[in-house]
Amino acid sequence: MKVARHPVTLKPITIAQYRFEFGPPYQGQIKLLRPEATCPACHEALLIRGEKVEADRMTFSHYPASATKPSVFCPIKAAGKHKYEVLCPVDEDPLRTRQLRESFFANWKLHWRRFAQYVGYADIGDFISMIKVADKSNVWRYRSLQEHEVIIVFMLTSDFKPVLGKGTEPLRKNWVRFWFESRATSFEDFWNLQTNHKVIIRTEYNVPVGKRGLKPDYLEQFKVLDMSHNYLANRREGDDHVPDYVERRMIQAFRNLLGISSVVTGSLSRSMPKL
Ligand SMILES: [Zn+2]
Repeated sequence: MKVARHPVTLKPITIAQYRFEFGPPYQGQIKLLRPEATCPACHEALLIRGEKVEADRMTFSHYPASATKPSVFCPIKAAGKHKYEVLCPVDEDPLRTRQLRESFFANWKLHWRRFAQYVGYADIGDFISMIKVADKSNVWRYRSLQEHEVIIVFMLTSDFKPVLGKGTEPLRKNWVRFWFESRATSFEDFWNLQTNHKVIIRTEYNVPVGKRGLKPDYLEQFKVLDMSHNYLANRREGDDHVPDYVERRMIQAFRNLLGISSVVTGSLSRSMPKL
């Protein structure tokens, strides 16, 4: 990782910033005691690999597991080996399932705007595909899923590739991936977390040309997002404003459903008690 949590403030800190603030690992032969930066997801202490050899190849790394310190689950460390999947929930309430889905469609503009804001330069085509995947995997059946949390499923089950745009500079040069902190390894875990623990981590990976996979070493930025805020219950003017082409694409994709959902008023989270 090119960035980690600051030992004290917990804010993102790069290796250069860390070394500027806490100094080099050694002074002559004497090892300096520096507070350790920590991992955004598992909060374990990290070492700086390559610090004594080549300055440009330094990375924050997890310590290898040892007999006295077994490895802690960390989604960033596991990278490609760990995926969040929607497991078809079994304790469905069919009425709630239907209401959640209809309410989501009634409020789709708010969901799209919030989703695009989190991802940064999202494509409406991706959003449409994700709703279709949500239908296929029956995500609406999760009893404890609140409407404003549906986009979390979209974000956590996808990787967002760089966006080139029409200019010379890309709109977003990095890959984006979202993770839960290590305390949640599945959606079930996350829905059951206390509100103050409902955070997700937005990470950006700068994958070198010719390389593949979102490896921890390519992680260049992270941001902690508080997902407990219910944007449906705290609407502001303009929250449901979307460009015409976005609306056209959605209507094309879900013509019948958007017709049905227009009779639903208000959001599910306001019309139904919290479960
Ligand atoms: Zn970690």
